[in-house]
Amino acid sequence: KREMVRGLVAGAFIAASSIAGACGFVGSSGPSPVHKSRAFVKVGNEMEKVRRNMSGEGEYDVVKVDLDDGRDYPIYIGAGFDPKEAGEMLRSHVKGKRALIVTSDKIAPFYLDQYEAMLKEGGDVQVDTLVLPDGEEKKTIDVLGLILDKCLELGLDRKVTFVALGGGVIGDMVGFAAAIYQRGVNFIQVPTTVMAMVDSSVGGKTGVNHPRGKNMIGAFHQPQCVFIDTNSLKTLPDRELQSGVAEVIKYGLIRDADFFQWQEQNMDRILARDPTALRYAIKRSCENKAEVVKADELEAGVRATLNLGHTFGHAIENGSGYGTWLHGEAVAIGTAMAATMSARMGWIDEPLLKRTYDILMKANLPVELPPDSPMNKETFLKLMSVDKKVADGQLRLILLKGDLGNCVFTGEFDEEAMKATIDDFVAECAGQTQLA
Ligand code: NAD
Repeated sequence: KREMVRGLVAGAFIAASSIAGACGFVGSSGPSPVHKSRAFVKVGNEMEKVRRNMSGEGEYDVVKVDLDDGRDYPIYIGAGFDPKEAGEMLRSHVKGKRALIVTSDKIAPFYLDQYEAMLKEGGDVQVDTLVLPDGEEKKTIDVLGLILDKCLELGLDRKVTFVALGGGVIGDMVGFAAAIYQRGVNFIQVPTTVMAMVDSSVGGKTGVNHPRGKNMIGAFHQPQCVFIDTNSLKTLPDRELQSGVAEVIKYGLIRDADFFQWQEQNMDRILARDPTALRYAIKRSCENKAEVVKADELEAGVRATLNLGHTFGHAIENGSGYGTWLHGEAVAIGTAMAATMSARMGWIDEPLLKRTYDILMKANLPVELPPDSPMNKETFLKLMSVDKKVADGQLRLILLKGDLGNCVFTGEFDEEAMKATIDDFVAECAGQTQLA
């Protein structure tokens, strides 16, 4: 496939200078300028000292998500917290006297007792728990209903705080429940996957899937805080870890060339779970996400660029059957497709296309569909046509354009290039998916 891609871009390169700003939103290259070395961060009404030893147990960083109307919140990032201190931190974000921890049956045996004990310490907060069935295929309106049923059964009022303990599926679903229960209650994100730590727990996008489209039902609802203990990644399977790395790679490609270069040099350390490398990758990703969310909380423009590869990827996730591909794996193939399409149109050069493929492969992520994939061209086009970025019937995509660290969110692309790219990727597949 890479040979094919090479042939495709040969001679088609347009100098970055001639295309910069040609359409859509162009991301900035270079490191993100905010949240660098703050010694203090505002948490509620308190100024809390942030200790910044990068590797010590009990030390942690805080990245602040700046929002208007006093909705700022901290992302705590540490590799092992003192339980007493962590309990105090978490309880400081529980506004009322009751909390409901929601997790899945896979995560509960590892972490539920620990977080329940931390929240209960001192006896000021009454803590209830709910364990949901695990998996992307369970991210549905029906399973969401179980959360609402439990709240009503327990008689929880509007001062309850939900605690989402788990990966992106739990985080998205619990966040959405928090958005709609009694027209909105507080919630705390405790992400336990790389995917959730670097992306889904930050920024307030919540929701569930619909059989006809991924994340089609949801709301923007920001958490009170995000609590990241990278020690919880010790139990995460390798495949899940790699899936989360797809979103880390995304930040480098769309807006942070320095971070991308760091990843090229440190991918082995990330995959080996080197605590310092993991923590840096998570912190830098959160900084990038916080910066984009601050600029465009409700995704009127630049926030859409965080969806690089996602339009193709969501089609793959849905069309292959939820649960077949991990989200990050589908995004990785989608990123390869977006980069290939960008190169086909001459928007990026061959070396950047190669670096994109190389880093995805270095992270052990897929860059093509397997021969037995049920995806075909019709499936792609049909599922992509219900993407949330479709506006007035026009499909808009995030594509790479110019030097590393630049991208555009645009509906003005060569449709034939998109179709040809889909053809490339489905050429070797059976292509048998039947859509309802
Ligand atoms: P996931 O939540 O399904 O978690 C992956 C698997 O790992 C699950 O089986 C889970 O039980 C297990 N697991 C979680 N933490 C574990 C741990 N510490 N140890 C052992 N096992 C653990 O998947 P995900 O990749 O975390 O998230 C994917 C979801 O996130 C998708 O639904 C996607 O749409 C969503 N997402 C949302 C946003 C957003 O902005 N809201 C951004 C990116 C992704």
